[in-house]
Amino acid sequence: MELREMGGTGLRVSAVGFGASPLGNVFGDVPRDAARAAVRRALDLGVNFFDTSPYYGGTVSESVLGDCLRHAAVPRDQVVVATKCGRYKDEGFDFSAARVARSVDESLARLGLDYVDILHAHDIEFTSLDQIVNETVPALRKIKESGKARFIGITGLPLSIYPYVLDRAPLGSVDVILSYCHYGINDTSLVDLLPYLKSKGVGVITASPLAMGLLTDNGPPDWHPAPEHLKSACRAAAEHCSKKGKSITKLAMQYSLMNNEISTVLVGMNSSKQVEENVAAALELSTSGIDEELLHEVEAILEPVKNMTWPSGIQQA
Ligand code: NAD
Repeated sequence: MELREMGGTGLRVSAVGFGASPLGNVFGDVPRDAARAAVRRALDLGVNFFDTSPYYGGTVSESVLGDCLRHAAVPRDQVVVATKCGRYKDEGFDFSAARVARSVDESLARLGLDYVDILHAHDIEFTSLDQIVNETVPALRKIKESGKARFIGITGLPLSIYPYVLDRAPLGSVDVILSYCHYGINDTSLVDLLPYLKSKGVGVITASPLAMGLLTDNGPPDWHPAPEHLKSACRAAAEHCSKKGKSITKLAMQYSLMNNEISTVLVGMNSSKQVEENVAAALELSTSGIDEELLHEVEAILEPVKNMTWPSGIQQA
């Protein structure tokens, strides 16, 4: 598995990253042995980056990921583990310095770790971005100084949140950003921001290459926030691939992996089969390239919904 540099952190992360939100049962129940097998298989195939959050499954994803890593008996320095703070299933959003400080301790206990490699403020568009700049980032920096997190990051859906925070926080204070659903076949809007992010020296994680299930044969979960028009276009694209005996998921993974400016592509996985398919997609990309003909056909189907997104967060002043 190809390893890529993550901004200026010195971290080298696998191009395919393991998104652990499915281990919180958010896309359907995952038996514990399937979760353990998926994590074990990922490690065996060279995946070293794992992402979770206290929000996923109301803390379940963190606890299950911790159990799976312990069960795999992987040396701590062989994995890069990221979690988040500020968003909770029962409490909602709280990006205050006090909550963030308590949150990392709770996450470490659930994960069974002494430190995480990355601690993100999770979905920052749900609070005032000035609070993120003036309170949350300084609180995260204190956590970094304490050694409980090696690096800090910010995540969210609207791309405008990144320049807002990075232009106001001290240069170098935010190590990485995690953007989702903006670097895939149906939505490539992150690409315009990449030169800016590079100029700020931040590592770029892109998540949800399958658009949170839209670009799969099974389709998205009921809670998926996309407008119906986008859902039906993605369904048509998946059916087109399936009729040709091809996989929309493989094509979508490969598309997101093609850009080396992105440190890692986080895909949510719940079984060793999915791990094997997604790693195989990455290996095939490096040896044979993407199926250009299929890509053009799928892009044509998705053209009417290109870069279509959905509202997220509170309106910023
Ligand atoms: P995704 O696009 O990765 O899709 C996940 C869905 O696709 C799941 O249902 C999974 O079972 C399925 N899938 C994966 N591989 C498959 C395969 N080979 N064949 C068929 N189906 C397959 O969406 P995601 O899980 O939401 O995003 C990936 C990860 O990124 C998350 O788990 C999470 O760790 C992170 N993330 C973070 C944020 C944030 O910080 N705000 C937002 C979204 C995602």
